[in-house]
Amino acid sequence: MTQERKVALVTGASRGIGAAIAQQLIQDGYFVVGTATSESGAEKLSAAFGENGAGKVLDVRDGTAIDALVTDIEQNYGPVLALVNNAGITRDNLLLRMSEDDWDDILNIHLKAVYRLSKRVLKGMTKARFGRIINISSVVAHFANPGQANYSAAKAGIEAFSRSLAKEMGSRQITVNSVAPGFIATEMTEQLSEEIRKKMSEQVALQRLGEPQDIANAVSFLASEKASYITGTVLHVNGGLYMS
Ligand code: NAP
Repeated sequence: MTQERKVALVTGASRGIGAAIAQQLIQDGYFVVGTATSESGAEKLSAAFGENGAGKVLDVRDGTAIDALVTDIEQNYGPVLALVNNAGITRDNLLLRMSEDDWDDILNIHLKAVYRLSKRVLKGMTKARFGRIINISSVVAHFANPGQANYSAAKAGIEAFSRSLAKEMGSRQITVNSVAPGFIATEMTEQLSEEIRKKMSEQVALQRLGEPQDIANAVSFLASEKASYITGTVLHVNGGLYMS
């Protein structure tokens, strides 16, 4: 049975930035479907969301699974009217040592998944004459980081994709924006040594890593009615690490 609240789909909601975004969108009044890659992760999400959402399994590399998930959401809860493409990984290496698998995995998980998911939800958004697509990019789409040629190319691609789609869908009142986090304290950055994390903080005007909630606040704004005249833009949330 469909329910009355607008439905938001947040990929990679089991941890880090995605978990904060999902909880924030619930507070904002959305019914949130959050994804994890494992059954146990999806069950934990369902338990955490209660009646305000549902946890589902999704590997964003799987186009058939994306189609099935969105069909399931549409049939059980209603059309996806806010899509947050957040799921992501890193496979850092200097280009000389970067395997083709490391290149393909990053381009598939970040860029191709954004194409597939965005395309799949557009019909429902068009019918509703409302839509919010928010893609999580990165400061490294703008600011060079050695060892991340694959990741920075994917993130820059996401931003360019978002601008094209914003032009295509504007007449239907569907907005498409990117949020570009700087260095945020999550498992992704915990993989780095204490020394690198300290060096990273020193480059930030506000002298600290960001928190997942800092990104959730930006997504909350872009998903709201207050941001209805903002499309095709990149919202930088980086504590002054990079200023455009
Ligand atoms: P994280 O803590 O490592 O969490 C990654 C999330 O993505 C998890 O929910 C994970 O699910 C999910 N995921 C991984 N591979 C997946 C796949 N193949 N299909 C579907 N879901 C998958 O990462 P994070 O730091 O929160 O990053 C979230 C987003 O912000 C990413 O797009 C990242 O590139 C971007 N970002 C992060 C930073 C930062 O400093 N942390 C900076 C800039 C941009 P499981 O729990 O099931 O594995």
